[in-house]
Amino acid sequence: MSAANSQLRALPGPRKSTAQVRARGLHTPAFVTPAMMRRLKTYGATECVERDKLLFQQGERLVDFFIVVEGKLELYEQKGRASREVESVIGKLQFSGELDMLNDRPTLLNCRAVQATRVLRIGREAVRRLMRSELDIAELILTEWIIRRARLVDQRQGGIIVVGDSHAAETMRVERFLIGNGHPHQLIDSNCNLEAEVLLRALDVERDQLPVVFFSDGTTLRKPANTVLATKLGFDQDLCEDKAYDLAVVGGGPAGLAAAVYGASEGLATLIIEGTAPGGQAGTSSKIENYLGFPTGISGHALAQNATVQAQKFGARFAISRDVIDMQHSGSGYQLSLEGGKTIFAYAVVVATGARYRRLDVPNYRKFEYQGVHYAATAMEAARCIGKEVVVVGGGNSAGQAALYLAQSARHVHLLIRGEGLKSTMSAYLIQRIAASHRITLHTNSEVISVDGDTHLRSVTWCNRQTNEARHCQTGNMFVMIGALPNTEWLQGKLNLDANGFVVTAPNGNDGCVFQTSQPGIYAVGDVRSGSVKRVANAVGEGSVVVSHIHRHIAEQKLSETSSAVIA
Ligand SMILES: Cc1cc2nc3c(=O)[nH]c(=O)nc-3n(C[C@H](O)[C@H](O)[C@H](O)COP(=O)(O)OP(=O)(O)OC[C@H]3O[C@@H](n4cnc5c(N)ncnc54)[C@H](O)[C@@H]3O)c2cc1C
Repeated sequence: MSAANSQLRALPGPRKSTAQVRARGLHTPAFVTPAMMRRLKTYGATECVERDKLLFQQGERLVDFFIVVEGKLELYEQKGRASREVESVIGKLQFSGELDMLNDRPTLLNCRAVQATRVLRIGREAVRRLMRSELDIAELILTEWIIRRARLVDQRQGGIIVVGDSHAAETMRVERFLIGNGHPHQLIDSNCNLEAEVLLRALDVERDQLPVVFFSDGTTLRKPANTVLATKLGFDQDLCEDKAYDLAVVGGGPAGLAAAVYGASEGLATLIIEGTAPGGQAGTSSKIENYLGFPTGISGHALAQNATVQAQKFGARFAISRDVIDMQHSGSGYQLSLEGGKTIFAYAVVVATGARYRRLDVPNYRKFEYQGVHYAATAMEAARCIGKEVVVVGGGNSAGQAALYLAQSARHVHLLIRGEGLKSTMSAYLIQRIAASHRITLHTNSEVISVDGDTHLRSVTWCNRQTNEARHCQTGNMFVMIGALPNTEWLQGKLNLDANGFVVTAPNGNDGCVFQTSQPGIYAVGDVRSGSVKRVANAVGEGSVVVSHIHRHIAEQKLSETSSAVIA
């Protein structure tokens, strides 16, 4: 670990202790039962480890899974040179691991024997088998791994430190990327932390190089692009160029995640390629209240994280932060080219690339994107609006949800719509709550005419088109939620698209499959599909159902490959 990194890790963080070795919380790791242990023994081998022996180290990939037979192990994070922070001590019938056991990313913790210890060691492949075959054990282990990851994220430990201006677009981009991917990190605001400022000066970091990301291996990156960060953190480790995947799912929103869960659970070798982070548009929703089975609602982030774990449990592989930029027919399937140069082959492709936000057409608008102009209202953005006035633009459900969510912490929310009212564009339950909120004012017939500021948005002016009255609001936060455009640039000339760029499916009513595009073996689901209902439930439904149509196509392609090989 570099001196600078060590110094930084010693800075006062949100929950920093002065003790050399600090144990976290009071969480007691789960136990397997003796009967489960007997079954688990068929998946691995027991071995003795001496006191202080390291079973794995932070940053190592593909580490094994350990269950304590007798003795004690400690899971911890190295903090600086001399101290460590203990995540948990695991004794007899307790076990190691967290969510990275389900993929090929580097592990976030160290594991050492506190005393002479006997462990059951289980390799990765056997862990995958056990996840599929031993349902009660898999449930117990997965629950513990989810809790362990949530604790790491909550404690902002086990991962990386981001130092930058917390209101700057680049810092927010990096933070959004890490949050979306459920990666633990700690943000230190360089404006409010004197020691961090001194350290940045000592490292000769210019303002335009912020944020600086410090990794536990002692390395740093200055203002890294998401792809660079993803590569460093191993988010694309699952991608294998030599393999022929049965199914490539492009896009990791609700539709793509559902296709991955069904594809992998039905035995297809499934790769999901996602440009940013699992969750898509839904991942930016603070609360989805109309999705079946969640009477108190569920945050889009939680829905995405749960679906990701579910897909990985069934063996789906994830390649994160790589947009697919091209697709070519190749033999019995398709060759997909990814940003950054890699290519993969798949017999069938599900296009689930959804849509992205529309922008307002006012001067200087782009200058303030992510510098006060937001497209999502999650906890991250809400934290920057506490006690302040904010503007939300849009009359759909997403704008309504955002206004209500922000009204919980902002001083006042101005909701701007172009129309006369919300009735034709927003669900009744949201309209009622907006009307009841004394912290939200609805401005009808209104359009934003200018945005102003310096490095950050400082004010928004809008005009009532009926009265011509202009209204000026000193605000640093405007949420623009005015609909979306399909993510189909990469499909121009490859698939039939409608006049608005959405993918046309079932061109000839072929196969009775409504998701079939103009090319055999390529299907489109969710928001990207022309005529689809733009809702989470529909995206999930389409992603789930499409897989049943794909099996036959893949079987036919593989059969034709075998026949050609026999003839040759
Ligand atoms: C703020 C907000 C709140 C909402 N609230 C609700 C609600 O309460 N209830 C409801 O039913 N619906 C809601 N919606 C709508 C709902 O989120 C969408 O209908 C749903 O997310 C569509 O899912 P999808 O998987 O089809 O596409 P998306 O969610 O758009 O996901 C597409 C994914 O594909 C990725 N991608 C795009 N291009 C590429 C590429 N070339 N290569 C790789 N990856 C790519 C994107 O990064 C994205 O992650 C809301 C939407 C928003 C924006």
